[in-house]
Amino acid sequence: MYIGRFAPSPSGPLHFGSLIAALGSYFQAKSHSGQWLVRIEDIDPPREVAGAASLILKTLDTYQLHWDGDVLYQSTRLEAYQDQIERWINNQQAYLCECTRKQIKAHGGYYSGTCRDKTLPASTPCAVRLKMRYPVESFIDQRYGQLDIPKALAEEDFIIKRRDGLFAYNLAVVLDDIYQGVTEVVRGADLIEPSGRQISLYKTLDVEPVSYLHLPLAIDDNGNKLSKQNHATAIDLDNPVPTLLNAMRFLGFNIDNSIETESLETIIQWGVENWRLLQLPNELKIKPPFSNEAL
Ligand code: GLU
Repeated sequence: MYIGRFAPSPSGPLHFGSLIAALGSYFQAKSHSGQWLVRIEDIDPPREVAGAASLILKTLDTYQLHWDGDVLYQSTRLEAYQDQIERWINNQQAYLCECTRKQIKAHGGYYSGTCRDKTLPASTPCAVRLKMRYPVESFIDQRYGQLDIPKALAEEDFIIKRRDGLFAYNLAVVLDDIYQGVTEVVRGADLIEPSGRQISLYKTLDVEPVSYLHLPLAIDDNGNKLSKQNHATAIDLDNPVPTLLNAMRFLGFNIDNSIETESLETIIQWGVENWRLLQLPNELKIKPPFSNEAL
């Protein structure tokens, strides 16, 4: 059984880039007669925007992207994350680290394992790092084939719990994808490097990794990702069809006139039936073929 998911962080409303991830993961799941789950990644309260989670869900509903089962909120999973970290600390697969970002930067930017053999007392304000035993320097993407990750990044003992007590994105994603039985992760190309770290976590847990499909990233004229941080506007809730069609064009669908006038529901269904991975653009970063106003 194929199980896919869309996992937005509630740091703002859905914008064009996140709609791409929602649609791509939906089409891929439904064209495999699979389930499509939605998970709200609300483990970073300082970055959370009040009301964003419910607005995201409402937007998905408006675009006729209906999820299977209940929405999982990561904020309900903190105990599971903490338990896993403690198991790893107890069996020396993770360790406390007191190095500051500044110190690491002064040593070239990548963490070099300074605290690996220190055994700091649990009372010191510390981050927790995974001892990297399974560096992943490349993996196979379902559409783009082998994707490479810089060696120094792949070999780094990365943070699984931050010094401020928040759990790291990579840890939470992997534990939840396993918990929810996810078989394939479909998301934007901005998350290629984290995919390597996440495969390392699967290996550390001795669990078969999911398969990965990355979707091209929408960039602006300056080559920057369209994101909540850089002026990407919330997508239209009152008149969704034009935005939906533009997002589908971005994903390589050949939309002809006959489909443009159909209902949202019919367009989504047509998308499921006509979705092919080879239609995706050859480049992993592209400028949308229409103006920003049309996003
Ligand atoms: N929550 C992440 C984001 O909004 C995506 C996580 C994922 O798809 O693995 O960027």
